[in-house]
Amino acid sequence: MNIYETIKQLVPMRDLLEHYGFEINRAGFINCPFHTEDTPSMKVYESSCYCFGCGAGGDAVSFTAKLFNLRNSQAALKINNEFGLNLSSSRTVPTANSPYLREQAKKKTELEKYRKEYNQKTTEFRELFCGIKKEADPWKMAEMQSRLDYLEYWFGENEWR
Ligand SMILES: [Zn+2]
Repeated sequence: MNIYETIKQLVPMRDLLEHYGFEINRAGFINCPFHTEDTPSMKVYESSCYCFGCGAGGDAVSFTAKLFNLRNSQAALKINNEFGLNLSSSRTVPTANSPYLREQAKKKTELEKYRKEYNQKTTEFRELFCGIKKEADPWKMAEMQSRLDYLEYWFGENEWR
């Protein structure tokens, strides 16, 4: 794998754009920097972006090159430095000592934990919801209801990520 490919895999488009000060709206669009517009028409994907207004876009490296008027190799170097990826022409596989990558790994672990909790709560909710109809003991039923209320509240506060 060469350094461009590594960068594209390591740095999500979203992170790169936020790093360069772009605001991504809820629909996943930003204001295109390559033509004047009031409504964001540049769609942000996992590892690229594309403007439905003017057709500009690219991946992390080519977008950065275009934005700062650089060659692709210079853009790759810029990203490498700014994100502390510690890559070089002879080392295209990242080492673990990059703060950015450590942060990314942490975020990934947290997300996995969150999803696991979300799924567990979903299962619990379903089981309680069915079980409460068959429960004869009023005390147990009250307990189940209060847990259901709590879960409902939790789902209201936390959306699937
Ligand atoms: Zn555009």
